[in-house]
Amino acid sequence: MKQVILIKNGEIALKGLNRASFEAVLIKNIKHALCGLGEIRVQRAQSTITVEPVAEEYDMDEAQERLRRVFGIAAFSCAVVVPKELDAILQQAPVYLCPELTAAKTFKVNAKRADKRFAYTSPQICAKTGEALLQAYPHLRVDVHHPDVTVTVEIRDFGAYIHADQLPGAGGMPVGTGGKAAVLISGGIDSPVAAYMMAKRGIRLTAIHFASPPYTSQRAELKVRQLLGEVAKYAGPIRFAIVPFTEMQEQIARQCPEDLTTLIMRRYMMKIASRLAKQQECEALITGESIGQVASQTMKALAVTEDAAELPVFRPLIGMDKQEIIQVSRKIGTFEISIQPFEDCCTVFTPKHPRTRPKLEAVRQAEQFENCDLLLEQAIAGTTFDKIYGQERGTAE
Ligand code: ATP
Ligand code: MG
Repeated sequence: MKQVILIKNGEIALKGLNRASFEAVLIKNIKHALCGLGEIRVQRAQSTITVEPVAEEYDMDEAQERLRRVFGIAAFSCAVVVPKELDAILQQAPVYLCPELTAAKTFKVNAKRADKRFAYTSPQICAKTGEALLQAYPHLRVDVHHPDVTVTVEIRDFGAYIHADQLPGAGGMPVGTGGKAAVLISGGIDSPVAAYMMAKRGIRLTAIHFASPPYTSQRAELKVRQLLGEVAKYAGPIRFAIVPFTEMQEQIARQCPEDLTTLIMRRYMMKIASRLAKQQECEALITGESIGQVASQTMKALAVTEDAAELPVFRPLIGMDKQEIIQVSRKIGTFEISIQPFEDCCTVFTPKHPRTRPKLEAVRQAEQFENCDLLLEQAIAGTTFDKIYGQERGTAE
């Protein structure tokens, strides 16, 4: 049985002159997501991209599972390809659509005739196909207004496609069409969600993680890797930078006023992340901050943190409730990993009474401790890099 996957573009259909380049990026991302599953041919016509596996024994379930996470896809469906003859259509439709039609109570048929030379009109195709399906599944009724399943028969140049309803795609814009940004990733619930949300807008991601061994363990780093693995199923491969932050944090704790240590630490994170991000040609930083969640996320505290950044800071979760963030993290498969109890460098050095209304000038002064510039350079120089992939197969890029 020969099958194809029909993919509908999302927002990129709106992009006018840029459309061709957006589609090219989407096709590259689709090929990348399906990498390792076998040879495919990809074609585009109007707002549909057609993926055609060369071999018949292609893993369509796994392909669907992967395509569900490719940004820029509004919807997609798997179709069977049959010869452009009415008999073939009437014979194959009940067989191919068996799972959907068995589960449904009502259906309707929708015919599209791209090839106008086909001997039957669309209403005739609908009527004949409907008849064949009713005969094969006597429990079914036709409902043209609210059918459980819509069966589509498309007559194309080189064959007929038969499929049931489309599945929803991930929406958003193809990753890579919006530039590149660096997400500051901790092991928590928020930052992976922030990363996902920016990737959904077409941003390619680099990730930066601050580690403070021995206060933070190897397991905590592994957790961050696992989180990025889930995000990469949507965002594509992610460059991963691990910054050795122990010395910096120890000296901040030793030399700075206790009520400002969190803010000062966060400002150094911003400074280091800005430098690393620029080295990697990123145009912005991303964090998982949300107003009022903790002391360092009041409006004033965020302003003090932001002052240390040398790139724009995007905070896609800024107006979201924790429950809303958790909902997204469950959906993208990061929640269960995030709630594993491993310490983060932020929590290790938390002051008892952090400032919620800090004064910028006071913080700027307090952060100038002995050797601070040297420690900053050492953290950058000691940073190690890796790459995280979202799937075992298909690591080619
Ligand atoms: P999360 O759930 O993502 O850990 P949070 O609510 O715990 O966030 P904080 O710990 O205050 O908040 O961190 C705020 C943001 O700072 C995080 O969302 C993340 O972007 C960044 N961040 C915190 N810790 C680290 C770290 N160790 N490495 C890199 N970025 C970090
Ligand atoms: Mg955290």
